[in-house]
Amino acid sequence: MALLETEALVLRTYNFGEADKIVVCLTHSAGLIRGVAKGCRKLKSRFGAALEPFTLAKITYYQKEHQELVSLGQVEILKSHFDLSGDAETLAGLAYMGDLVIEFSPPYEPNERLFRMLKACLDAICQSQSDLQIILRYFEIWLLRLEGYLPDIRRCGECHRRFDETEATFMNADLVFRCRRCSQGTGNALSRRLQTQLRATQRLAPCVFAQESRAVPASIHREMAELTHQLIGRVLERQPRLKPTLQ
Ligand SMILES: [Zn+2]
Repeated sequence: MALLETEALVLRTYNFGEADKIVVCLTHSAGLIRGVAKGCRKLKSRFGAALEPFTLAKITYYQKEHQELVSLGQVEILKSHFDLSGDAETLAGLAYMGDLVIEFSPPYEPNERLFRMLKACLDAICQSQSDLQIILRYFEIWLLRLEGYLPDIRRCGECHRRFDETEATFMNADLVFRCRRCSQGTGNALSRRLQTQLRATQRLAPCVFAQESRAVPASIHREMAELTHQLIGRVLERQPRLKPTLQ
């Protein structure tokens, strides 16, 4: 049995047995893991408040070979994010992020960029809760990209020519971006402003993206939300649903 240590973000917890909980975390070095926190529902649990959703913690855990469920050892809070829990919309946003990470990430596949991206998005929300929706769009685009589901926004999916900054991009029901010629007059044109926004997600940190997006019209935010929801919907449809939870 190996004892491992990593940084982790708690995404979700379930009651398990009489006094335990199953904790689902995204970790820095092991990707998505599910662990049992023994006795954590007892009054004097050593875990204390460390297992609240979106706590950033240093954890140790034991993993037996061929067993998906690990056993949590020490959990040391690095940042509680407790300050975010007072606002219902923020809490719903965080839960949404956690659910999507759980749906998209295969367990035990390290993805350091995903971990850093989620952490940066959380920090950005902490800095400015009023930017929640913009940061959620940023998060969606990056989650799609890091899990390999974001169509190339820089090139035509048909002729592979690089789009220049001024030309229109079209998207069909197959959710591939094409140039005007390849789309042959079909599909929806993405507004130029949306394309600029999409490109901005690729080069800016979430807090800077949020600041720079404040001047962007609401119609563009709506267009971006429609796009990400279409892309996410397609992924969730063809992926198997979550395995039954261990409640
Ligand atoms: Zn083309």
